[in-house]
Amino acid sequence: MARIQAEYIWIDGQKPTAKLRSKTKIINGPVKSVSDIPDWGYDGSSTFQATGHHSDLQLRPVRFVPDPIRGDDNILVLNEVLNADGSVHPSNTRARLRQVAEKYKAFEPWFGIEQEYTLFEGARPLGWPENGFPAPQGGYYCGVGADEVFGRDIIEAHTSACLTAGIHIEGTNAEVMPAQWEFQVGALGPLEVSDELWLARWLLYRISEEFGVSATLYPKPVKGDWNGAGAHTNFSTKAMREDGGLKVILAAMKKLEPKHEQHIAVYGAHNQERLTGEHETSPIHSFRYGEYDRGASVRIPMASINAGKGYFEDRRPAANMDPYEVCAILVETVCGD
Ligand code: ADP
Ligand code: MN
Ligand code: MN
Ligand code: MN
Repeated sequence: MARIQAEYIWIDGQKPTAKLRSKTKIINGPVKSVSDIPDWGYDGSSTFQATGHHSDLQLRPVRFVPDPIRGDDNILVLNEVLNADGSVHPSNTRARLRQVAEKYKAFEPWFGIEQEYTLFEGARPLGWPENGFPAPQGGYYCGVGADEVFGRDIIEAHTSACLTAGIHIEGTNAEVMPAQWEFQVGALGPLEVSDELWLARWLLYRISEEFGVSATLYPKPVKGDWNGAGAHTNFSTKAMREDGGLKVILAAMKKLEPKHEQHIAVYGAHNQERLTGEHETSPIHSFRYGEYDRGASVRIPMASINAGKGYFEDRRPAANMDPYEVCAILVETVCGD
């Protein structure tokens, strides 16, 4: 038995956008299963999750991965937040997704989430000139060279950390706005993709720290003629992935349309700054799906059209969305009656 460092990670109660918190507990290792990890507690009055004198909240470990930063047997532990009496705290959106995932598991839903983000150094996007702006967008997306991309060493460090942690990162790319990047997680089931995305976000913040840089998920970090940051959510059920699945995808469009505003309500704060109808987005107050169409709310990719089966891409979620909420509403709308 050895003493290891467990970094307990949880989601706070900030509104309109919850943020990650973490603290370190020395526990007995090596840890083999989540049941080896003790519950813990913290001061909810410092995280917008409690007021008054009874501010103790519980951390209930739900998933752990190797800690790629500390190495050895050290771990990162993702937690659900519970009240002192063990009931689910109102900020705990994972608890609801757990129920939704269980109810609809026969549909075998898969999600692949494209997480866009922007690197900042102080008040400016990383690599932007001290005065004025870089050259207009056009050459930066998937660019190469010190004049086109900023922060690649951070992206490389983050990707290998995710791989070491066993997170299902599927790719990365430089985005349309300089200092903006993307990584993809999944395809995985709803709870798995959401847990891994939160852990990957924590690693992004933590690794950027080493470079004196901060990553933001704000959906429109620079006003004007610069792309915003989204979290395109790619979704399929077993029936969509099987022969004839395109019909099931099209049926899902009919279910999504009347629920547009309910979806937008949980697709991230400040999303109206991003979903303008410009910069590869659709206007926030209307729903439209399109084949190969990156100006639609939902895009059915070329590969799914050609194969007659596959998945669709919900382009509406903002980079700062809570994947527990986004996955829950997509499963309920598409798989429900
Ligand atoms: P884009 O062309 O929009 O930039 P990306 O390649 O960045 O697309 O991301 C596509 C995401 O969709 C990946 O995470 C991929 O794993 C995921 N994906 C692929 N097939 C499916 C599927 N059947 N169901 C859900 N997600 C899928
Ligand atoms: Mn992408
Ligand atoms: Mn993108
Ligand atoms: Mn996309």
